[in-house]
Amino acid sequence: MLPYGRQSIDEEDIRAVVETLRSDWLTTGPMVERFERAVAQRVQAVFAVAVSSGTAALHAAMFALDVGPQDEVILPTLTFAATANGVVYQGGRPVFADVDPSTLLIDPSQAETLITPRTRAIVAVDYAGQPCDYEALRAVARRHGVALVADASHALGAAVGRRPVGCLADLTTFSLHAVKPITSGEGGLVTTDEESLARRIRQFRNHGFATDHYQRGATGAWYSEMTDLGYNYRLTDLQCALGLSQLGKLERWTARRRQIAARYDHRLAGLPGIRPLAVRPEIRHARHLYVVRVDPEVAGIDRGRLFAALRRAGIGVAVHYLPVHLQPFYRQRFGTGPGLCPVAEAASEQILSLPIFPAMTDRDVDAVVAALEAAIPAAKRKLAARRRVTAAPCARPAYGIQPGA
Ligand SMILES: *Cc1c(COP(=O)(O)O)cnc(C)c1O
Repeated sequence: MLPYGRQSIDEEDIRAVVETLRSDWLTTGPMVERFERAVAQRVQAVFAVAVSSGTAALHAAMFALDVGPQDEVILPTLTFAATANGVVYQGGRPVFADVDPSTLLIDPSQAETLITPRTRAIVAVDYAGQPCDYEALRAVARRHGVALVADASHALGAAVGRRPVGCLADLTTFSLHAVKPITSGEGGLVTTDEESLARRIRQFRNHGFATDHYQRGATGAWYSEMTDLGYNYRLTDLQCALGLSQLGKLERWTARRRQIAARYDHRLAGLPGIRPLAVRPEIRHARHLYVVRVDPEVAGIDRGRLFAALRRAGIGVAVHYLPVHLQPFYRQRFGTGPGLCPVAEAASEQILSLPIFPAMTDRDVDAVVAALEAAIPAAKRKLAARRRVTAAPCARPAYGIQPGA
């Protein structure tokens, strides 16, 4: 089965982890800081804080912004559940925004209509690796005095113009899960330019203590105050060594992902009923996911049946995502349900994520396209018609008779 996403691990990654295993530090040690500094530099942020997962990064962001009971946080419903869960961990209420039908990114003007006196933040999600309209989102946030958070779990390596994702919002969160742009097994990051936010997140990942074990070792101090209730959300030195080694390959991998996406764009152009998502101008897409929409009227097959057919053909397609406001937990706890975000609800019936990952070959891409062509009735009809047209002129000389002769 060709998976929809897959990590790439080479000998250099393995060496980096093994070296750490032989060192004095397994968990919080020198690799954490080295990794954080490298990430901050890569995304042009002042601070990066490594945490144990992308989910922990979102939780930490909500904590740093003081989201609490009665507070509302606006976020797109077409995302992984963790984006909303981060708000709920803090006792806040997620307010689900709809998405733009062509890009499936949060629509800044629709999000603005959801702002109330209780809104603390907007969380934008760079769905599939495409950066949101941060200029418009920053303007909305500024106008209403709310914070802007980017859930860039899909978008390490993306940029708007020359500015990388990671420095475009007050706080940006990344995931280092195995299928994400780079991995540390499990892991996450928060980047920010604000020292007070970075400090709060550093404490939050270590039970709320003002200093960590490594810092106390360096200064010879034993005393540390716990000033907040935090968690154990630390990322280990082992994981940071892997993350740092992977970061060195991000540029090359993003370029390869973009090549694969371009090949899909080209090869899928004539396929009836299959339409890739639109790409905004002047952005650098990280291409974490390659998502198409299936129009059942044109294709002659719906997404569900196409999904099953591709799986049978060994193509590991996926669906990202069922809108969060339709998840049973959110329906029950917050009374959400169908009709709240009609664009996302309609899209979620049609979207399909095709395989894309750096080690995928051009032949793999062609195999996915061939499997689509074989599974889509309208494509088969079109192909058969083309064969008839191209076959006809060749057939004539064989009979030795010119048409009309
Ligand atoms: C993967 C992901 C997360 C959660 O990250 P983990 O590292 O798996 O905890 C959050 N939001 C989005 C959009 C994601 O894709």
